[in-house]
Amino acid sequence: MVSLYTNQPAFFADIADELRLFLAMEEIVPAEACGASCADAVSVVLEEDGGLWRARAEVRLCGQRAVSTYERPAVTGDALAEKRCRKRAVKIAAFRAMRAATGLELPWGSLTGIRPTRLLRELIAREGAVEAMRMMREEFDVSEEKLSLAAEIVGVQMPILHGQRKEDVDVYIGIPFCASRCLYCSFASAVRTEKTDMASYLAALERDIAHGAEIVRDTGHTVRSMYLGGGTPTVLTAEELRRLLDFALSAYGGFGVELTVEAGRPDTITQEKLNVLRAAGAGRVSINPQSMNERTLRLIGRSHTPEEIKTAFHMAREAGFASINMDVIAGLPGETVDDMRHTLDEIVRLAPDNLTVHTLALKRSSRLVERLGEYPLPEADVAEAMVTTGAEAAHALGMRPYYMYRQKYMRGNLENVGYALPGKECVYNIDMMEDTTSIMAHGAGAMTKCIYDAERRVERIPNPKDIATYIAKIDRLAEEKRRLYEIR
Ligand code: SF4
Repeated sequence: MVSLYTNQPAFFADIADELRLFLAMEEIVPAEACGASCADAVSVVLEEDGGLWRARAEVRLCGQRAVSTYERPAVTGDALAEKRCRKRAVKIAAFRAMRAATGLELPWGSLTGIRPTRLLRELIAREGAVEAMRMMREEFDVSEEKLSLAAEIVGVQMPILHGQRKEDVDVYIGIPFCASRCLYCSFASAVRTEKTDMASYLAALERDIAHGAEIVRDTGHTVRSMYLGGGTPTVLTAEELRRLLDFALSAYGGFGVELTVEAGRPDTITQEKLNVLRAAGAGRVSINPQSMNERTLRLIGRSHTPEEIKTAFHMAREAGFASINMDVIAGLPGETVDDMRHTLDEIVRLAPDNLTVHTLALKRSSRLVERLGEYPLPEADVAEAMVTTGAEAAHALGMRPYYMYRQKYMRGNLENVGYALPGKECVYNIDMMEDTTSIMAHGAGAMTKCIYDAERRVERIPNPKDIATYIAKIDRLAEEKRRLYEIR
């Protein structure tokens, strides 16, 4: 347990996130709640002194003591900018003191709670490219390697983001059901069994879609892309998929520039379902192995073999999908760099159009975290070598990185990166990760977003994760979404 004192209580959670970069799952409690019983303690104080803000962090950790001070000119006049800069100052001081106390170098420096590519793009727009790169390097302590990854992604995204119009909206449709539950899963996704009342869920989903399409039409928005995600949408039967897509496409009058379906688990994919998706106009599909090692697939609770992955991939090509994504995870239990290399060799042979390299994140609600001691997890440096292997495979396939995001509790504080062949980038993934386009989202657990450009503000309405609550709330959710979209 580590105690945290700050005279900036509004930023307690942000400072705690900085500490967690170094402390993993360790509990962080307010100093007042801990008293003298915590030997490990952090104090972060921000003071104003003659037009300067001075943030001072002191860390006592496992017998080590370190202090760091960060100064910057005070910001006044713009409340939002003032809050942002205060927060940044205390986070930087806390990060640097923790780094000194632990001796750990982290590739993304003090960045938490913001997508590095979004920050870099905003800094470039405000300060120019040279100053933006300097700030990432010197203020946020981002490594050269990660900075060039973020800069490459920002460059690849530029023409796609420039193609956006103010009235654009992306449509998300969620199927929170799967064939079985993966060991590391933290999503609110249920296993579809014979007892699952899918008819009730799909009927509610159609009502949700009908409301959303009406709001989009009434408020003068147009659909830029559509994404059917999960869970695993292909747990639906071919007939259920056909009906759902027909309904959504007729309600919205089309899918814009791109319709993606996350087929996900190969054991749920059939030629008939793929043909239904193609007939609806889907051009991009995800077939996700995570690993091509049979032992690992069994261990993580995925009820399919590497051979089934290859079969599903070939079926998707046969159905006419010109854009196929494959997801892999670095840092899976029991895996070595050689295991990861084997997975990627197999994928390179299949030659997909997109490759997404995830790093395992330890989420509290997963079975993996509940039974952590039972599973041998690769060390952070091994996870990093795996991520590098993933990047090499993507480059060997002629792909460029085009979006990335980080999550809490990732092995080695690394990142998830999506790679694509030039011209095969998924528009929805970019819009969603960069918070540049509003999203009308349908389904239990899905998140509707509204972007207010002028203030760089994002408002969100989460649909309830619990299926029964979601079904009961459809009409109320529609009212909330309408209010959000009408004031945009
Ligand atoms: S396929 Fe995805 S959503 Fe389904 S259980 Fe596995 S991780 Fe969770």
